[in-house]
Amino acid sequence: MTVTSEQQPAARSAVPELYDTTLRDGTQQEGISLTVDDKLRVARILDTLGVAFIEGGWPGANPKDTEFFKRAASGELELSRAVLTAFGMTRRPNADAAGDPTLEALLSAETPVICLVGKSDVLHVDTALRTSGDENLAMVASSIELLRREGRRVLFDAEHFFDGYLRDPAYALAVLRAAADAGTECVVLCDTNGGALPAQVHDVVATVVADLGGRVDVGVHVHNDADCAVANSLVGLQAGASHVQGTVNGIGERCGNANLMSLIPNLKLQLGLDVVGDADLSRLTRVAHEVAEIMNLTPDPHAPYVGHAAFAHKAGLHVSALARRTDLYQHVEPDLVGNSLRLLVSELAGRSTVVLKGRELGLDLESDRAAADRVLERVKELEHIGYTFEAADASFELLVRAETGMLREIFRLESYRTIVERREDGTVVAEATVKVWVDDERFIGTGEGNGPVDALDHAFRAALSGRLPAIAHTHLRDYKVRILDADTGTGATTRVLIRSTDGERDWDTVGVSSNVIEASWKAMEDAYTTAFRLAVDAGASG
Ligand SMILES: [Zn+2]
Repeated sequence: MTVTSEQQPAARSAVPELYDTTLRDGTQQEGISLTVDDKLRVARILDTLGVAFIEGGWPGANPKDTEFFKRAASGELELSRAVLTAFGMTRRPNADAAGDPTLEALLSAETPVICLVGKSDVLHVDTALRTSGDENLAMVASSIELLRREGRRVLFDAEHFFDGYLRDPAYALAVLRAAADAGTECVVLCDTNGGALPAQVHDVVATVVADLGGRVDVGVHVHNDADCAVANSLVGLQAGASHVQGTVNGIGERCGNANLMSLIPNLKLQLGLDVVGDADLSRLTRVAHEVAEIMNLTPDPHAPYVGHAAFAHKAGLHVSALARRTDLYQHVEPDLVGNSLRLLVSELAGRSTVVLKGRELGLDLESDRAAADRVLERVKELEHIGYTFEAADASFELLVRAETGMLREIFRLESYRTIVERREDGTVVAEATVKVWVDDERFIGTGEGNGPVDALDHAFRAALSGRLPAIAHTHLRDYKVRILDADTGTGATTRVLIRSTDGERDWDTVGVSSNVIEASWKAMEDAYTTAFRLAVDAGASG
């Protein structure tokens, strides 16, 4: 296909509208299962981000989605900024739109906007619908007309549009025209199989905008099977589309959908399009993590913009330059997306890294050279016995606080004990007892678990959750054990790295010992100390 420059409209400068389909397309991802309460929580979080539309699900397709819309309509979901939409399919072939069960379920969802999906690839009309091209056009038209008559705004998702356009461009465009004639406000071109490449998406969108752009908005909905979903969405918008669909963290079936967490900052910070406000953008990292948390997914540390490592710099050559100008080694200011710059400290680090790292943590090591040297010495000693601070910011911070006299003791371990028992029937159970002091008060807790570390965690919580509530909000998200080479001649050493979370923030701690339980305890001790410190900073009672 060729598009001449005369046909190409100038890229629109208008701000594109964002359509979130996390709760419908996103939940198609393997392993994700949300309750109705979860879906309501996610919708409320999405509303804080400033997207124009939130697609809640497919009413009638499963009881959960039907219940979601019912509860949303009954006042349980009050969106202050976004419009709730329902998703569903065109009517059945050779039947009336009136009385069609799918359309009836869509209407009973009581949303002001409906996103209706229909076929636009002639091959799918033949083989999946098993009907004629003309009947498919009639299905699209009569379904949209019915929804319009009922007072709904309609967006039309043209399924398999890019593949369909390659196969039969005239038919694919005829489907869009039928939708436009019937009263849709936006035709959304879908790369349902996710294999399109940017140049193709650009050309096809430009052609559709030239054909229909004056009458209806053009949108894009692309999947990530060729790892091009964000790029395809961007070129679609640059080719004249004004509506884009995606999901939080790019979740979705197979390789996912276009990732709004990358798309939003690309549009706002790189292209200058105010798709969300500045304050909204600064919540981006938090939204990414909160939604991942509800979906029980571990956030990808290397995710652009919102990942834990997205602005992490390894100590070395460029650290002293970073000290002078942080923008030398990062493409945007991390604060803008609610993330932060991190410096990775290791024994390769010099004083300047330690000083900068201190500054990052809000601790002044610049005016105290002696303290900076002590911290560096301590890092070197600990790294020699197996510690690593590159992936354990929180332990590093405690170390700096200890060396600068800024570490207040929150609790003090007296002792712990763990027992692992394998019973006759093959089950393995672990129990632990922890004795711990807060000021001059002694607490004893016991716990059970599927292993000794789990039992120890439960015992510690049992001992102190009443006294220090911050602990109840903290949980261990990731636990990694590594056996290090015994090159110091003292036998095998175990290093444990723990990532903890309070649902909003993550922090990493490390422990090292020749005993795996003791190494775990040390990492847990730092994790809990950090939890209390963060809670105190946040003004919580714990
Ligand atoms: Zn999709």
